[in-house]
Amino acid sequence: MHPFSYTRASDTREALDAGRRGGRYIAGGTTLVDLMRETVERPEALVDISGLPLDEVTVTEGGGLRVGALVTMSEAAAHPQVRTLFPVVSQALELSASAQLRNMATIGGNIMQRTRCTYFRDVTADCNKREPGSGCAALHGHNRAHAILGTSEACVATHPSDVAVAFAALEASVRLLGPDGERRVSFADFLLRPGSTPQREQGLRKGELITAVDIPAQPRPLRSGYLKVRDRQSYEFALTSAAVALHIRGGVIREAKVAAGGVGTVPWKLPAVERRLVGERPSAALWPAAAEHASEGARPLRHNRFKIELLKRTVERQLRVVGGTQ
Ligand SMILES: Cc1cc2nc3c(=O)[nH]c(=O)nc-3n(C[C@H](O)[C@H](O)[C@H](O)COP(=O)(O)OP(=O)(O)OC[C@H]3O[C@@H](n4cnc5c(N)ncnc54)[C@H](O)[C@@H]3O)c2cc1C
Ligand code: SF4
Repeated sequence: MHPFSYTRASDTREALDAGRRGGRYIAGGTTLVDLMRETVERPEALVDISGLPLDEVTVTEGGGLRVGALVTMSEAAAHPQVRTLFPVVSQALELSASAQLRNMATIGGNIMQRTRCTYFRDVTADCNKREPGSGCAALHGHNRAHAILGTSEACVATHPSDVAVAFAALEASVRLLGPDGERRVSFADFLLRPGSTPQREQGLRKGELITAVDIPAQPRPLRSGYLKVRDRQSYEFALTSAAVALHIRGGVIREAKVAAGGVGTVPWKLPAVERRLVGERPSAALWPAAAEHASEGARPLRHNRFKIELLKRTVERQLRVVGGTQ
């Protein structure tokens, strides 16, 4: 581990000042410390933000939710309003990591977590994300767990967060506070596809602090849920996953929000699937017909072609679970 300084911010102003001077925020520390131990990350100054008052879940106008950046994954998953209004969010959290990790890890840290690509975490391997311009060992290496959507010649790594998939489906936005004030960025613009600059993963400006994630109000009634498919049933990242929310009124699907995880370089919204569902009556035939669109644009690698079919089946199954067949 490289030497670093550590300060604990007593208020938001102090945190932002330290952030502006190049300090790296640390919240639960469950992933940043690992990366520092492996020397993948080498921050010179850590700014502990865990004492800041960003730890509340509040209901916003019309029945949306604001989840503070320092709410832990366990608190968010168990929160009565999250469970009632957006089961898809609590399910995605409960299927993440382990109970011990969820007790420490925060919502802000979760959406900021870096890829689990093994080459990224192996400092002897070529990796454009870790060392821009060095190449991508995964392109011709072992790429079973890698992305099939949103990839580039420079990087094919997946975004590992589960709850980010639920946030993407629900069209959430991220609240940011920086030296120039506060702003809100849609989730779709917050996490960046690799393109030719895979080292840039989030649309954050220097020193900006995530203060909360806003989930907008949705038409009611809303049914929602999250399905995660993985190599073992616990303590494992997704091979594929699906976050689904459906507003069904008068026997017709009026709105559909669908996104997939484990397959994209960012949580992958599925607008073609959503379009196929809206205006239709739930039926056993509708789910596979809609899910067929899930892998549009997919570019499989040598070892992950199986994800195309697995993704369609994951989406189909979760549409059936959430929508029923009525
Ligand atoms: C063994 C293991 C298994 C896991 N499995 C899963 C899984 O199945 N699904 C899943 O989704 N996740 C999984 N995770 C990841 C886990 O959810 C993250 O480690 C955790 O959410 C990170 O939160 P943290 O508060 O500890 O972040 P930290 O480690 O403190 O920080 C992570 C990053 O976020 C930045 N950061 C933190 N808070 C802010 C903020 N408010 N503003 C700006 N930047 C900020 C930090 O600078 C750092 O870059 C796993 C982790 C481990 C170690
Ligand atoms: S896929 Fe991305 S993170 Fe993995 S080795 Fe290639 S450049 Fe690095």
